[in-house]
Amino acid sequence: MRQYPLYIDGKETAAKEGRWLDTCDPATGQPWARIARGGPEDVEAAVAAAHRAFGSAQWAGLSASGRGMLLHRLGDLIAREARALAETEVRDNGKLMAEMHAQLQYVPQWFYYYAGLADKVEGTVIPTDKAGFFNFTRNEPLGVVAAITPWNSPLLLTAWKIAPALAAGCTVVIKPSEFASVSTLEFVRLFKEAGFPDGVVNVVTGLGAEVGAALVAHPGVSKVTFTGSDETGRHIGAAATGQLKHVSLELGGKSPNVVFEDADLPAAVNGCISGIFAATGQTCIAGSRVLVQSSVHDEFVERLLALARTARVGHPADAATQVGPVTTRQQLDKILHYIEVAKAEGARLMLGGERLAATGAAQDGWFVQPTVFTGVKNSMRIAQEEVFGPVLSVIRFDTEDEAVRIANDVRFGLAAGIWTQDMGRAFRVSAQIQAGTVWVNSYRAVSYMSPFGGYKDSGLGRENGIGAIREYLQTKSVWMNIGAPAGNPFVIR
Ligand code: NAD
Repeated sequence: MRQYPLYIDGKETAAKEGRWLDTCDPATGQPWARIARGGPEDVEAAVAAAHRAFGSAQWAGLSASGRGMLLHRLGDLIAREARALAETEVRDNGKLMAEMHAQLQYVPQWFYYYAGLADKVEGTVIPTDKAGFFNFTRNEPLGVVAAITPWNSPLLLTAWKIAPALAAGCTVVIKPSEFASVSTLEFVRLFKEAGFPDGVVNVVTGLGAEVGAALVAHPGVSKVTFTGSDETGRHIGAAATGQLKHVSLELGGKSPNVVFEDADLPAAVNGCISGIFAATGQTCIAGSRVLVQSSVHDEFVERLLALARTARVGHPADAATQVGPVTTRQQLDKILHYIEVAKAEGARLMLGGERLAATGAAQDGWFVQPTVFTGVKNSMRIAQEEVFGPVLSVIRFDTEDEAVRIANDVRFGLAAGIWTQDMGRAFRVSAQIQAGTVWVNSYRAVSYMSPFGGYKDSGLGRENGIGAIREYLQTKSVWMNIGAPAGNPFVIR
């Protein structure tokens, strides 16, 4: 089995304690590679390398346009390696090859976008009220950034963090998920070829409680940017702010897809199916609650079930597969547990609900049937808690006000879909829904250009778009006395 060491200061580096972790193929349930299991000493070395790089003439002395050139070159290298990186991600997280290849072909756009933005972050001249002073602002990089990422879209979500961080002039230590680290370790090698100085980007793999926690606690880390579960995010947020570090959190969701009676029903069915079964439901934006107006409920459910029944579950590398395995054994158990919880709560199981024994190479894999519950009450756990799997809850409503109330009656607020042909209603409801992203007659569109993040328990801060670079900068106000020399020391002017 191939072994992947850490990447520190531009070099592949063995973990200090010499330990390894297996990484498994979800389609077979078997290990296929080993990643280094880092520890606090490795975190120490990586943060020290990132610090040296942050202060180095090669990085700190590089112009913003120079940083942009490097990011652009990196984007080109990712485009060149997109297929190979996608194949690695499919091995590690079991998502469909078609999806991961499209995702990897899109990742360069983050580096091109922030390459272009690097030299367009301007300070301001303040029209100060104090005579004889010239006052202006500078935007300075925060320092060393810890980027902690989940397994579901490892490189896409890494790009969301490190492209703006590097454009801002920060340096980075990445801690990928222990379930899907290999693509990050392959990707990081491209930095040298792109011309980045050693130490600007480092990767320490290992367990969250060992490597992730040590990074968050390290006094040399100025900012923590995290994507993952809300439970871990809450813990990291408290630890980081307790040390007065900057922190951004992209967490989970329980997002509603709201189908009104005037919707184009076939389109709404397509959107709701893609919202929950794409990526086997393992996306933070999964539309896991479908709210349907009573007058079209039965017709909608019939159409939804008819389409959901056709979903082909199988090996993620097979081009005909529409729903792949779930990424981890723990995730499979969690999903099956929630299905039992929903049944016990009185939700009606209309489709799926079982672990699936696939055939051939996939027979030991972690497959679960696409699952649909109707008759769900919004107070049930299946409607309130994130399952992170292909399990859809259908909830009935009568009026627009009731739809908004149910949509907002969860602690999360990451995303929502609205299906209606009435544009007045689309405006009203999109304003009332408490979510960081709202799609109208669509679901799942994201872009490097458009801000992404959560309301309520779904997170803090925004990724993507122009504003995201500010998450890695701090503002300095510079006062220059251009008038009379400093006078009476006891009177401030
Ligand atoms: P997770 O929270 O278990 O782990 C995420 C990362 O945090 C991993 O790298 C893990 O090793 C690390 N970690 C775990 N414990 C830690 C600790 N104590 N200190 C520091 N780091 C620690 O999440 P996961 O299981 O990898 O990912 C699935 C979850 O991520 C889902 O709940 C999903 O909703 C969420 N998610 C959110 C978004 C978003 O953008 N909002 C995107 C993808 C996934």
